[in-house]
Amino acid sequence: MANLHRSPSIVIVGAGIAGVATAYHLTVKRGVRDVLLVDSRPPLSLTSDKSTEAYRNWWPGPDGAMVGLMNRSIDLLEALADAHGNRFLLNRRGYLFLTAERERVEAWRRAAAAAKAFGAGPLREHPTPETYRPAAARGFHGQPDGADLLLGDAVRRAFPYVSPRAVAALHVRRAGWLSAHTYGTLLLEEARGVRLVQARYTGAEVRRGRVEAVSLSTGERVPTAALVLAVGPFLRESAAALGVDLPVVYERHLKVAFDDRLEAVPRDAPLLIWSDPQRLPWRADERAALAADSEAAFLLDEFPGGVHTRPEGEGGSRMVIGLWEYNALPLETARFPVPDDPFYPEVVLRGLSTMLPAMRPYLQRLPRPVVDGGYYVKMPDNRPVVGPLAVEGAYVVGALSGFGIMGSQGAADLLAAHLTGEALPPYAAAFRPERWAEAAYRQQWEASAGEGWAL
Ligand SMILES: Cc1cc2nc3c(=O)[nH]c(=O)nc-3n(C[C@H](O)[C@H](O)[C@H](O)COP(=O)(O)OP(=O)(O)OC[C@H]3O[C@@H](n4cnc5c(N)ncnc54)[C@H](O)[C@@H]3O)c2cc1C
Repeated sequence: MANLHRSPSIVIVGAGIAGVATAYHLTVKRGVRDVLLVDSRPPLSLTSDKSTEAYRNWWPGPDGAMVGLMNRSIDLLEALADAHGNRFLLNRRGYLFLTAERERVEAWRRAAAAAKAFGAGPLREHPTPETYRPAAARGFHGQPDGADLLLGDAVRRAFPYVSPRAVAALHVRRAGWLSAHTYGTLLLEEARGVRLVQARYTGAEVRRGRVEAVSLSTGERVPTAALVLAVGPFLRESAAALGVDLPVVYERHLKVAFDDRLEAVPRDAPLLIWSDPQRLPWRADERAALAADSEAAFLLDEFPGGVHTRPEGEGGSRMVIGLWEYNALPLETARFPVPDDPFYPEVVLRGLSTMLPAMRPYLQRLPRPVVDGGYYVKMPDNRPVVGPLAVEGAYVVGALSGFGIMGSQGAADLLAAHLTGEALPPYAAAFRPERWAEAAYRQQWEASAGEGWAL
């Protein structure tokens, strides 16, 4: 047990990527001493090791706050990777959005114009593939930013393995993935001054509107003037215990991994996303059986766009991961272990086979799947909360939704700036925890709804 009798200057609750990155930014980047990191679970084990590990600087409006945060976050990730021989395998393969619907191209052009105005980089159009520069499989230097729009035959020539139905592809370039667990472990190794305590935080002692101490499940009372909630899918209840209403919801998101024995996903592929809604491919007899089964009949409905996949692992690995957010309902509490969805692996594989015809044989004999997942913690505007709470000395870094790995450096850097009283970057105001309590903010947000886009 760490020596708790020395009062920590800051207690961080939660050793997921948000808490670990915050500890790193406070101690390594700002020289803050006596930081205590409290978690009842092993570090990074609840949500932060379950993700797709992907990143992108391509974000919707209504303003440039998300692009600003992510550009900063990716700058910091790249600098960290450079300083450590790219130990966490940051790549820059990009996100490749694919469509068989010509109308979508105009929507992509509009999204690209907005993304460019926010600082995500320019759009380059390629009616033929000669001008298009494919992504390098490894590393992240010397690659373009912005996005490439491939049209018609250029899609098939650049990506011969995707469905011939694809009429356009949008390749977002400041994007890729990394090994999230190696990245988080590196931050913990570097943040040597941090004391890590395995215990549950059970509450804060607040006097005259200020945090004075926190209590732990070990029975200890730890005096401190600063408390950071980095509690992932316990945010709503942890904030409520301090009298703060953070209207987050929890959405279950699953992920399937399987051995791609047919090598339908090339090992150097980018993250591949089928943007169109679709009906799953079934034989006529399967369709009749499903129609007669009230629990499975929904498998005949139209599913939303967004099924995606990428190769996983180095060397001789044939693993791929696949995801599809087709039934992410908003929940008020996160349950653990994360409840299963027995249909998930087959639904994802069938959806992916629409984009990657080489996967069709899997529909006769499904590969053995490994499914895991966690919760997205989401504010109504799907933006993070980073900054001070209404109780003096209490801070939050959370609501990191589906972007907590990619946004961890930016969010932790921002929270560390709040905690140490530094000048704040221009995007700080967009992530104020209290924003949703302000009618003017809600109205402005609702008026701009529809300007966003998924994934
Ligand atoms: C399927 C899936 C795919 C995803 N894909 C991506 C992706 O491609 N890119 C990306 O950037 N993000 C992705 N994400 C999102 C990302 O994983 C999360 O945003 C991120 O991990 C959240 O980190 P966190 O530190 O806030 O929460 P967590 O990792 O959940 O950590 C919170 C920690 O707080 C601890 N804690 C809570 N309450 C207490 C208490 N009272 N006392 C002590 N400890 C406590 C918990 O034990 C836990 O360890 C994905 C998520 C899922 C589920």
